[in-house]
Amino acid sequence: MRIDVVSLFPEFVAQCAAFGVVGRAVERGLLSIHGTNPRDHAEGNYRRVDDRPFGGGPGMVMLIDPLRRAIEAARSAAEGPVRVVYMSPQGRRLDQETVRRLAAEPRLILLCGRYEGIDERLTRAEVDEEISIGDYVLSGGELAAAVVIDAIARLQDGALNDAESAVQDSFEDGLLDCPHFTRPVEHELGAVPEILLSGDHAKIARWRRMQSLGRTAERRPDLLKGRELSKADAALLRQYREASMSTPETVADATEPAAAGPETG
Ligand code: SAM
Repeated sequence: MRIDVVSLFPEFVAQCAAFGVVGRAVERGLLSIHGTNPRDHAEGNYRRVDDRPFGGGPGMVMLIDPLRRAIEAARSAAEGPVRVVYMSPQGRRLDQETVRRLAAEPRLILLCGRYEGIDERLTRAEVDEEISIGDYVLSGGELAAAVVIDAIARLQDGALNDAESAVQDSFEDGLLDCPHFTRPVEHELGAVPEILLSGDHAKIARWRRMQSLGRTAERRPDLLKGRELSKADAALLRQYREASMSTPETVADATEPAAAGPETG
């Protein structure tokens, strides 16, 4: 997959993409990231990329033409269809489903605004979709682009090593991930739940599923809204709630299959 970032600070995004999973995806040739600076496509001695807004008011607005030429340069730098995404606080809020959809594209152009944003006419003419990384305002789209690139890189086949497998990650099946523990077993901050040391894979899987369901219900009930739980999941969630009203040990033990009846979904 190829991602072009149109930004006044392309080095910023390149730096973010130089480490960890993203860096490895690039090294392995699964992802290539290219920066295009609209200033390189601006005219005049000052290579101006912004101007005052019509109608008055504070701030500056990014000019159409340098951005348009930068997008065109990025578009024609390689073959194949390109989806142009404007990083914008007014866009659709990024979620894992959107990440999965974008990760399946062969090419993306991520357009990063600065100042008050970009001239609306350019958005209408060139942008396929706007994406926000949350309900707050950043001073530029570069951090948002870096977030999108990181989330996409993890989903490229071969980007993750086994130990980092995305299968159990939060949101993969619409639930939050279960809690994780590593050595030592005993620590002044507490002990690892016994079930995880039992070697009983079926029990461990049930415990993890119960934790995922319980955490999601506690922390992100919106994710469960409208979702019909299978009988087995509903029973696990009941067990989680009952157990969390008693002792922590009970939570760890509450992993016997519940008398749930057959699974429905
Ligand atoms: N005046 C704009 C508004 O209120 O909608 C905000 C402009 S912001 C200061 C400058 C640039 O940062 C935007 O053009 C956009 O590219 C980026 N940006 C800011 N917040 C963002 C967010 N939550 N998600 C994605 N991009 C964001």
